[in-house]
Amino acid sequence: MIPKKFYDSHFHVMDLSHANLMAFLLREDLITKETIRDFSRKMKWWMKLIPLGAIDLAPGVIVRKLKEFLEGPSKVKNLLSFMENSIRFDFLIVEHFLKKGKEGKERMITSDNLFLVDDVLYNKIVLCPLVIDFRYKNMQQKGIFYNLPPNKSVIDQTADLLTAIAHYMQYELVPSTEFPDRLHVTSYGGYRKGKLFEIYPFLGLNPQNDYTLDQIKRIFKKYFSGFDLDTPKRRSELLLQKMGTYGGTFEGIDLSYFFAGIKFYPPLGFDPWPENDLLELQKNCYIYEQCIRKRIPVTTHCSNGGFITDPNAETYTHPGKQWFKVLKHYPELKLNFAHFGARNDHQTHWREQIIDYLLNKDYENVYTDFSCRGFTTDKQEHHFYDEVEELIETYGNKVCDQMLFGSDFMINLLWTDSYNQYLANFKYTEALRGHKEQICSINPERFLFG
Ligand SMILES: [Zn+2]
Repeated sequence: MIPKKFYDSHFHVMDLSHANLMAFLLREDLITKETIRDFSRKMKWWMKLIPLGAIDLAPGVIVRKLKEFLEGPSKVKNLLSFMENSIRFDFLIVEHFLKKGKEGKERMITSDNLFLVDDVLYNKIVLCPLVIDFRYKNMQQKGIFYNLPPNKSVIDQTADLLTAIAHYMQYELVPSTEFPDRLHVTSYGGYRKGKLFEIYPFLGLNPQNDYTLDQIKRIFKKYFSGFDLDTPKRRSELLLQKMGTYGGTFEGIDLSYFFAGIKFYPPLGFDPWPENDLLELQKNCYIYEQCIRKRIPVTTHCSNGGFITDPNAETYTHPGKQWFKVLKHYPELKLNFAHFGARNDHQTHWREQIIDYLLNKDYENVYTDFSCRGFTTDKQEHHFYDEVEELIETYGNKVCDQMLFGSDFMINLLWTDSYNQYLANFKYTEALRGHKEQICSINPERFLFG
């Protein structure tokens, strides 16, 4: 059996300097029901009877209890602990634990990079890290002194990401000989051969972050030249050749094939179809036309969670509002609605809208990824993959022809403890038997290169 490639079409690497910590801490979904349930479980019953004013009178006990809670294990702490690392180590850490496991948790992948999902054997994981163009969003915090941090430059973030990929190719993590629970970075002899990951990033772009049309034209020329002439096979070869070759400067190098696609993040203020501003609309149309001509895949954040800074976030992010107008004009656009729409679909109907696209022959290039969705709940009654299985039963196989596996790592650490666990959820679910290869290998390959 020739091993295949497993694709994770939605992944992030960033450290605390990239993430816009303020936006991060203000995420509504950071304070989850689980956190609150956990907190109230740990509170003594009599504490719930204390009026808030009493905190001033008996601060010692209450502060001690709060500290105990914060010091216990929590998902938020796990996430922040991961993000505290320099971005250079992110790929190495994820790979290390996938192959070694940890404390009673099985390793997911053998030392030869092999793993089975149902009856299909894989030996590579293709990761698509998506860059988010944060810029100055959400930085004018009131009442604090240093409230004007420098621009979160998307160029710096991009350079850091490319450096991390190069670092991943050159190094590996090994347990220290003196302290077996510590990891050391050592140079990796095998270079390209033997690495588990192939990494094809998506460029973060928000044309409304003061780009001129000329600058956007230059971006396409710089990063996507050759894309109009290549074949799917050639594209995957060239991306692989370029992977990990970034040497620390954008000057004097050929930047094409460092990126496989483009990422939009509407809740930060990207209007997909700014019909009342012809200059902006012209820029967007240029982007869509180029993406079609060069077969560049586009992923747009499509969930009502996440980093929200724009009052029109809902209209911009919704798959059936501004994006509907885009697709009416550009039905061939290769567009992935990430996260399969909103969580509470009975209220929002985002998912219904996406399913409409998936079933409509006019939108064969519309995709949707499962990132940050593949979790098991405590009660087992709302396992996401069971919901997808039900959709296949209702609508037939056609509905999963454009679905993509995605993790949304590291953001998904708010709901799961590791990449290992997220992958295990997909591998071991009884649902989607006979469809998994399509979702994690066949569809994403077409989305990325086809
Ligand atoms: Zn994401």
